[in-house]
Formats: sequence, structure tokens, C-alpha cells
Amino acid sequence: MITIKTEGEIKVLREGGKILASVLGETASRAKPGVSAAELDVLAEKLIKEAGGEPSFKDYGGDSGNPFPGSLCFSVNDEVVHGIPSEGKILKEGDIVGLDLGLKYKGLFTDMAITVPVGRVGEKEMKIIETAKKSLNAGIAAAKDGAFIGDIGFAVQKYAESRGFSVVKKLVGHGVGYSVHEEPEIPNYGKKGTGARLKAGMVLALEPMINEGGDDVVLEKDGWTWRTKDGSLSAHFEHTIAVTKKGAEVMTIL
Ligand code: MG
Repeated sequence: MITIKTEGEIKVLREGGKILASVLGETASRAKPGVSAAELDVLAEKLIKEAGGEPSFKDYGGDSGNPFPGSLCFSVNDEVVHGIPSEGKILKEGDIVGLDLGLKYKGLFTDMAITVPVGRVGEKEMKIIETAKKSLNAGIAAAKDGAFIGDIGFAVQKYAESRGFSVVKKLVGHGVGYSVHEEPEIPNYGKKGTGARLKAGMVLALEPMINEGGDDVVLEKDGWTWRTKDGSLSAHFEHTIAVTKKGAEVMTIL
């Protein structure tokens, strides 16, 4: 079942989304050569707690016996999503890093990710970051009351492929708000007019993952980190949006 949030809940999600955008922006601004993943993880968690929230990814999946050990997902270069923010992961000049952060605020959940360059990066690094960001914007533009889930994936895939990239198909976006992951699944590919119909009050996390090479991804032995199968670069952007009569309202924005 796809839940519909009340106006009061949307208001809280808007507040939480603003906090999340601020925390993630501050964290991303510290992503420089020589900085470790663990440092940024500690910073993100501290900023979330100072703002009165809780990091919703920390200990996520504990029932499986392998809880996520940090607050911040930290995915470098060919890592697609869910990279673990360990001490030994140190950023280098020329890397790109995906930072994904979840917030629980006043009982409600928002989710956001960005990919940023570390120091000076090459042209292909800039191009994949820009493409992933714009493919998310294309997906957001397709989301409105009466549209279909498939319209979002169609828009994301069309833009990314037009720029010569592939979209990850094994991993998808999702509903969000009452919990970290809710129905529906939101693929980053698809056909217009297919899948569930969007209604005002639905809250969704759209999150294209764009690869330089093939779309296939593999899970590392740590049980969390997804990597491109062919070792090519990957970039990820995510916003939490609320579907409205007129279009989509982005929650995770300053
Ligand atoms: Mg997400």
C-alpha cells in the first residue's frame, strides 16, 4: 500500500528535509583530499543530533545481523551506493564521492544524496555528476498527481542515456516518510503510463544511480557496498519529494 501523508505531516517533512539538506551540504563541503569517510560520518551525525534529529541509517538492517555501521553512506568512484564510512577510506584528489544521508525528525523520515568532486576532477567525472543530477531533475519534473511511477523512470532513463550513460536497474527509489523505505519501488527506467498512479500526498525518494559503463552492479562481501560490475564510475543523487496537484515539491532543499 502506498501511504498518503497529511498536510501536517508534509509540514514536518518539509522542516526535516530542510535540516537534512543543510547537514548534507555542510558535510559535502568538507569532502576534500585527505579527509576520511569516518570523519564525515561523525560530522553528519553530530549535525543531525544538534538539529534535534536522529540518523536513520545508523544500525539499519540490524535484524539481519549486519546493521549498517554508520550514519552516512559514503560511496567513492565505482562504488554505487551504501558504501561504509570506515576510517581507512581516505579521499584523494580526482575522486568523486556519493554521500547519502537519512534523517528521522519528529517521527518522520527524509532521505537525500549528492555526489561531489574531490579537489580537481577530470571531465568525465564532472559529466557523470552533472548527468546524474539532471536525471534526478527530469524524474522530479515527471512526478505529479495523476502521473504514473513509470513516467518517472522513463524520464530519468531517457535523459541519462541521451548523455551516453546507463541507469542502474537492480536498485531503485522508494516511498518514504513513516519509515526509511516504503512502497512503492521507483525504478530509474521504465515506460510511460505504467505502474502505480501518483496521488497528491505521496512522499517519495527519487534516486537515480548512473553508470559510466554497463548498468550491472555487484554487492561487496561487507553486505552493504554496491559497486559497478565493470569498475566504471557511478554517480547518485536523491531528493525526497511530496506529490502535489501541480507537480512535485522537493522536501530536501534549503
Ligand atoms: Mg533512498
